[in-house]
Amino acid sequence: MRDFIRLLCTECKEENYYTDKNKKTIPGRFEIKKYCPKCKKHTLHREKK
Ligand SMILES: [Zn+2]
Repeated sequence: MRDFIRLLCTECKEENYYTDKNKKTIPGRFEIKKYCPKCKKHTLHREKK
């Protein structure tokens, strides 16, 4: 049961990463700190629904 998700930078809203998440291990909203090439720094990335 894997779900393909897009991760958006919360600052510039750019889609920087694609990943899949396991709905059973991550039931809620997926958030992760990752490097954004547009912001040129690490920002919080959030899954796009
Ligand atoms: Zn950004």
